Formats: sequence, C-alpha cells, structure tokens
Amino acid sequence: MAPLHNRISQKELKERLLKETDPRTTISFYRYFPIPDPAAFRDELYKNLDTLKVFGRIYVAHEGINAQISVPSANFDQFRTYLYSITHLDGVRLNIAVDDDGKSFWVLKIKVRDKIVADGITDPSFSMEKKGHYVNAEQFNSLTNDPDTIVVDMRNHYEYEVGHFENAIEVPSDTFRDQLPMVANMLEDKKKKNIIMYCTGGIRCEKASAYMLHRGFENVFHLEGGIINYANQIKEDNLSNKFHGKNFVFDNRLGERITDEVIAKCHQCGKPADTHVNCVNSACHLLFIQCEECKNKYDGCCSKECQDVIHLPEEQQKVIRKGIDKGRNIFNKSKARLRPRPQDVIKRDSA
Ligand SMILES: [Zn+2]
Ligand SMILES: [Zn+2]
Repeated sequence: MAPLHNRISQKELKERLLKETDPRTTISFYRYFPIPDPAAFRDELYKNLDTLKVFGRIYVAHEGINAQISVPSANFDQFRTYLYSITHLDGVRLNIAVDDDGKSFWVLKIKVRDKIVADGITDPSFSMEKKGHYVNAEQFNSLTNDPDTIVVDMRNHYEYEVGHFENAIEVPSDTFRDQLPMVANMLEDKKKKNIIMYCTGGIRCEKASAYMLHRGFENVFHLEGGIINYANQIKEDNLSNKFHGKNFVFDNRLGERITDEVIAKCHQCGKPADTHVNCVNSACHLLFIQCEECKNKYDGCCSKECQDVIHLPEEQQKVIRKGIDKGRNIFNKSKARLRPRPQDVIKRDSA
C-alpha cells in the first residue's frame, strides 16, 4: 500500500514545487455532510489526491469536509471527476482563485478534526442536516429590499469593520463560537422574521443558519458562496451591489476591494483608512488599521512603545519577544488590547 503521508522534508518539497513549471489551479471547497468514519474517508481521499499530485490542506470531520488545495491544471478534469464520484460531493461548488500563482502549497495534508468549523456547540441534538435556505446574489438583493429582513454578518469584527452589506448587523465577538449564542440571544424576539446570514466564503454562515434553526428561528437564509461568490455574481450578471468597502481575506493583500468607499478609520488618528497591517514589532504583530501618514510617523508600528522597541538592538528585542503571548493579537474595539504591552514586559523583566 502507498504511504498515506509524505516522507520527504518540507524544505525539499518546497524546492520541488518552486522548480515545477506546469501550472497549478488553486481551489477551495467545503461541504457539510455526515461522514461516519472520518479516518477511513481521509485515507481513501489521500490515496486518490496524492496520485493526482494535489497539494494543500484539507480537514475532514464527522460533519463534512473543508479544503484549500492546488491541482496541476492538466489534472483538473480528472480531479473533478474523482471528487464528484464521492457520494455527497457530486456537484460541490469549487471556488477557483483567480489571481493566484498556485505556489501556496507544496505538500498534501489531510487532517481529521473534531469539526470543520469550531463552534463550541455541546448539545448532542444539534445537527448540520437541517440548514437554512441558500440564496444567490439576486435573491439576496431582493430579500434584503424588504426592510423587515434582518441581515447578519457572521464574520469577526475586524472583517466587518472594513466592509459589509447595507444594514448588516455586526455580532461583536472575536470568535465564531462566541458569536453563535450571541446572535441567537440578540435576535431572541425576532424568531418569525426573515434572517439572512453571510460570511466570507459561506462555511461559517451555513453553520450559523443551522444553529439558528436549532434555536427556534423559522425563516433562516444564508448567502451561498459568501461575499466572494456574491462579488463574482454581481459582476457577471450586472446586478446592483449592496456590499460596501473591502472583503477581508487572509492572504497577502488582507482584503479585496469591492467598492471604492472607505468605511473604516485609522486606529491611530481616526482618519478614513481601511488597510489592515501587522505591527512591524514582531513581539507585537498586532493586526490593526493604519493610514499612510501614521505608517510613516510610527514606522509601521501600532504605538510609540512598539516603535521604541524596533529601534532597540536585536538582542534586547529577543528578550522582549520571549515574554509575550501572541495568541490572539487583533485590535479590538471593546478591549483595545488583548495582550501585554511590550513596555509592561520590559518593566516586568527588569524588575
Ligand atoms: Zn492615521
Ligand atoms: Zn505593536
């Protein structure tokens, strides 16, 4: 039997990929469906995708599959035929990344997880088999023309901050697992209203729609393929656009502009800005919004303190880095900082 994982070093695999001249297509897809034996499903999938020289990261759980992969473009048809031959994956929507060089992955990793999207739900009667109704861009537009429809953004606050749909409600938490009970409680007295949920690519709002039904909401919808697919559909079909600003995505651009409107503000000076950056001080690495002026003024740092740190000798910076947990380092309106400030660590270490 062929090995079900790689025995070659990461470094060598990456070098091999960079030498590859055949183009690759970068694809993402997900689907919620019951997988009784995720480990067996994983092994079978690995054997087949490895043969087709697919790279990337795939999560398999009892509740379904979530994949970000690259496929040699020459093998694409074969790949799709294989994927669609799997029960429940026939016709699954494949999101093809347009401006991608196909060099993001150099190894295939398929992992069995507890969930494909961590939700914190412990109630055993919760099931992904009862979900809300999918809506496409056109249906989304017409449903949201009704002022009684409630639109819910199921992304994190920093994603909402730079771009969102007209009249969308923000669920102010850092984590999806906290957002689920929070949104159900926020809308407790609106169980009979039309509720449309959306997220970046659809995987979170699909789960949220199932959760809302579980909590007794009656008319729950979710945007198929998320903002990414909506943006494509309005362009293709020349529909009116109800999304304003930028769609935040975790790639090098940290966001794709959908309209020219800048709806967020610089976290340092308050002027209109919607460019997310990571603080240059690697002991901090805070994700925040910074305008060009502040970028120059603070050398790309989130604060005067971090700016001081980056001008210290490297040895001293190393000491500072050691003391800091960078676990969840995102600018948050409610708790302006989620981490010890570098100067506190300096004080603590010198005390
Ligand atoms: Zn500024
Ligand atoms: Zn900083």
